[in-house]
Amino acid sequence: NKQVILKDYVSGFPKETDMYMTKSSIELQVPKGSNGVLLKNLYLSCDPYMRPRMTNIKGSYVESFKPGMPISGYGVAKVLDSENPEFKKGDLVWGMTGWEEYSLVTAPQLFKIQHTDVPLSYYTGILGKLFVCSNLCMPGMTAYAGFYEVCSPKQGECVFISAASGAVGQLVGQFAKLLGCYVVGSAGSKDKIDLLKNKFGFDEAFNYKEEPDLNEALKRYFPEGIDIYFENVGGKMLDAVLLNMKIHGRIAVCGMISQYNLDRPEGVHNLMYLVTKRVRMEGFLVRDYYHLYPKFLEMIIPHIKEGKIVYVEDMAEGLESAPATLIGLFSGRNVGKQVVAVAPE
Ligand code: NDP
Repeated sequence: NKQVILKDYVSGFPKETDMYMTKSSIELQVPKGSNGVLLKNLYLSCDPYMRPRMTNIKGSYVESFKPGMPISGYGVAKVLDSENPEFKKGDLVWGMTGWEEYSLVTAPQLFKIQHTDVPLSYYTGILGKLFVCSNLCMPGMTAYAGFYEVCSPKQGECVFISAASGAVGQLVGQFAKLLGCYVVGSAGSKDKIDLLKNKFGFDEAFNYKEEPDLNEALKRYFPEGIDIYFENVGGKMLDAVLLNMKIHGRIAVCGMISQYNLDRPEGVHNLMYLVTKRVRMEGFLVRDYYHLYPKFLEMIIPHIKEGKIVYVEDMAEGLESAPATLIGLFSGRNVGKQVVAVAPE
């Protein structure tokens, strides 16, 4: 059983060598009466929240990984054997699993896959939900709750999204377009800008790495200001956005990926604009919106089937590619939702 192990707690920018591959033996049978299930992992999800889990920080909103143990995260898997009455051999499931070929899960945090007429890998991203008891997060629900519940959006408003081509950002932009908003996204490469404009239907998009002055760039796309900023990156982008918010604008703080690898977070200088422009800035965790999952599914499944929402995944091949793939999130190597395909379905 090939596994990806965290070597030790990480500080600064994570490296491929912070993880290593190993092989262990595993019984392909669940001990009788154990309540466990044996999984063959098919797809693993790579998410930014996994970076804080590589650090031994007390009081973080997510539990740290254990050095010397396989990385854990969301995945899609097939049940090979089960002593749990809720699952049987052959079931397709998604939920918490290990970064390994096979996982023996003794207290399953798993759901059976309901809709097999959409790609199974979508359950690592757009269709995933979270467990009421867990702190983990899924991009589809995050985009949905963050946009509709936190941003209080209205038709015709001007919306800006950072890390816009990623798992969460691409969906927020499409939700905003469906509502009839003017939508601009920022991302870090030409390919991503093309995707935003030509595949996801954003009105405009720009490469923040090529803009010498972010304030000027935002003024170009929002001459009258921004009503809604969906914040994924933090740092310099947030500072520039604060200068460009409209009065009574809203900022939904989903994440600040530019800060995750810094030992000391960057200072934000323009917070006073929250007062002068009466802007509401609200952080949120998708776990607080667990109850909306059925409503979300009701909306999103037909939208996916009718092609009204498109979802781009970046599929890496093989468990061996997982460490480099995870790290790639922090240099923007992923184009769309990052997934690792471990075994054929
Ligand atoms: P993405 O698929 O967007 O991948 C991360 C992207 O972030 C990269 O592709 C890169 O794109 C961008 N990025 C990386 N480093 C930097 C940097 N230093 N400065 C600017 N951009 C950077 O990830 P997700 O969609 O899964 O997550 C997006 C955000 O949402 C994250 O901040 C995450 O922590 C947060 N999140 C929050 C949740 C909540 O409950 N609040 C739940 C889920 C996610 P680019 O090429 O554009 O730089």
